[in-house]
Amino acid sequence: MNVPFFNLRRQYDNIKTEIDTAFSDVLERTDFVNGKAITDFEKSFAEYNNVKHCSCVTNGTIALHLSLLALGVSPGDEVILPVNTFIATAEAVSHCGATPVFADVNEDDYCMDTESFKKAITNKTKAVIPVHLYGHPVDIEELLNISLGHGIDVVEDCAQAHGATVNGKKVGSFGKLGAFSFYPSKNLGAYGEGGAILTDDEELLLLIKNLKDHGSIQKHKHELVGYNYRMSGLQGASLSVKLKYLDEWNYRRIEIAHRYCKNLSDLPIKLQICQEGRKHVYHLLVAQVNDRNGVIDKLKQKGIGAGIHYMSPLHLTEAYNRIGYKKGDFPVAEEISDRIISLPMFPELRNDEIDYVCYTLRDILNEK
Ligand SMILES: *Cc1c(COP(=O)(O)O)cnc(C)c1O
Repeated sequence: MNVPFFNLRRQYDNIKTEIDTAFSDVLERTDFVNGKAITDFEKSFAEYNNVKHCSCVTNGTIALHLSLLALGVSPGDEVILPVNTFIATAEAVSHCGATPVFADVNEDDYCMDTESFKKAITNKTKAVIPVHLYGHPVDIEELLNISLGHGIDVVEDCAQAHGATVNGKKVGSFGKLGAFSFYPSKNLGAYGEGGAILTDDEELLLLIKNLKDHGSIQKHKHELVGYNYRMSGLQGASLSVKLKYLDEWNYRRIEIAHRYCKNLSDLPIKLQICQEGRKHVYHLLVAQVNDRNGVIDKLKQKGIGAGIHYMSPLHLTEAYNRIGYKKGDFPVAEEISDRIISLPMFPELRNDEIDYVCYTLRDILNEK
């Protein structure tokens, strides 16, 4: 049997008629940039997350970049973020000319470690970007308390956690701003690039609307030097269709995670834990095993796709190892980076496929 790590085709087959109609509506109206499909989606996504405002932008990296710009992050400032995340989180800081400052992660839920975050705070710290990694929400309430005490702004990186909650409240609604990616493989993904920023703050919203559209909200009036960071109308249309299914899809992801967990419970494999009071939406199903690379090779031989998120903590990547960090600075992230494996996870994954992955893993792990 072949089990893909990820497959978008199955989802498209299930919603093809609705997607095709939504695309065709945009084509008929010819509002390819901004327009009704965007404003409709912004309204629904704000409502879904229970925040006042949503503004769509080109992608998730830009959502983070614009959020930091709106908060005034600039050269000389420091922004703290977890060292185990996708590189985009750090790039957004660098794009403002500010310095990314890394914090270590927890060994069991892989999110930013609160103690390490506290140690990273200096008088230059302007903001923090907690990442709800793999779909598991960080301890955002504790983090907000600490940040408020130090006058640090919080921008949530929700790129992997659409629909996740902490004590019933959606991620992206805690910080000053919440940044989302709609890259096709995310829990809520477009049919191309997409992103959005959530906020309750009217002033920040206006600044973001200005910045993303050449410093202009009113035609012919340019208040500041901005960017072209808009989202395509077709993406707005596809996202409005898919938002209706998000809860159902997340529910299925949770079901899949439980099935993996049950099937693998007696094996030497450690799954990410879900902390009390938090709804984990399993963007990825990440586990730790010995001889990770060997396990991936053997899975591949049996037709099973697997991934690594992420191969290298950011301070050891070529892009960021020149800012003064060294091996040994973030022991937890360094240790897990050699052990983590991401198993197939997407809502359309079938039970027989999950069972085949688990059965194969059992063989591989027992062999050792
Ligand atoms: C995907 C992702 C991003 C960037 O989103 P893009 O839409 O690809 O630019 C940022 N942060 C995290 C944690 C991500 O997974």
